[in-house]
Amino acid sequence: MLLSRFPRVSLAHLPTPLEHLPHLSKHLGGPDIYVKRDDCTGLGTGGNKTRKLEFLMADAIDKKATAIITQGAVQSNHARQTAAAACKLGMSCDLVFEKRVGDAPESYKNSGNVLLDRIYGARIREVEKGSDMNAEMEAVAEQLRAQGETPYIIPGGGSNVIGALGYIDCALEIMSQANSASLPVDHIVHATGSAGTQAGLIVGLKATHSGIPLLGIGVNAPKELQEEKVYKLAMETAEYVGAPGVVKRADVIANCDYVGPGYGVPTEAMNEAVLLIARLEGLLVDPVYSGKGLAGLIDQIQNGVLAGARHVVFVHTGGSAGLFGYSELLKTD
Ligand SMILES: *Cc1c(COP(=O)(O)O)cnc(C)c1O
Repeated sequence: MLLSRFPRVSLAHLPTPLEHLPHLSKHLGGPDIYVKRDDCTGLGTGGNKTRKLEFLMADAIDKKATAIITQGAVQSNHARQTAAAACKLGMSCDLVFEKRVGDAPESYKNSGNVLLDRIYGARIREVEKGSDMNAEMEAVAEQLRAQGETPYIIPGGGSNVIGALGYIDCALEIMSQANSASLPVDHIVHATGSAGTQAGLIVGLKATHSGIPLLGIGVNAPKELQEEKVYKLAMETAEYVGAPGVVKRADVIANCDYVGPGYGVPTEAMNEAVLLIARLEGLLVDPVYSGKGLAGLIDQIQNGVLAGARHVVFVHTGGSAGLFGYSELLKTD
């Protein structure tokens, strides 16, 4: 796959490091755990959406866009990285937020990612849970067109075939780093939500015949729904890059046992994972995605399919800015 065929704008600090976590590995008594530091992509405190935005924003530039529109939950990391990218590329940014987390405390509504969105000067509108987000974004686009702007809509999470290219690139980067370090990776694990990360990774891993299984830890939808969403996007993405059929349904595995009461709602295991990796490795994971993903990884090492693995890579997808949006909800002792 030749990703250089696709328009791309440089936004991320790449390659992100691949680091060993000796203390967490020892603590769990299982495989050696490595972390792919996609929390360090560098744009507006970093995270996984920046890789996707390199391709999405290039497409927006190609289409002469002057205004970017996207959507997400109120504490969306994707929205924050998109707002930062729009600033860097001289475009305006409109964010449509779905009030997905009920009874949210003050910090959730105003701190964390939301504070950063405001610093970036993004225009924010909030809509009720369950709203038709695509219709809401289209309405914003209509208003902008009436003002003479050329809007470009990025889907939630930046998850379409263009955004997923960013995670094909990440899969290639992990392979290259593993080869250089003589690291025989047995498994890759990460948090999965809007599906672009998992879809891109699986296309990259399969098209290169890496033989590395991928496990997505769900943060939102039930297993069947999540896997179908990822599989559909992976098939489309494979076709888009000229590798149709490389991904089979059985390659798409999501474990959605760690969602808890719902998207963005803290769980005990997430909270413990946040404290554990901070105190053992100095790393910050977030309450919505990477914290639940890490909780899943820990449980899978202790009780699941990873018990026999020797070298596991956890893709740290970022989100630590979201911690400040959860200051009333997280326990620190
Ligand atoms: C968006 C996000 C994810 C999930 O990635 P998707 O491509 O939406 O599946 C994981 N972790 C963090 C921190 C995110 O912001």
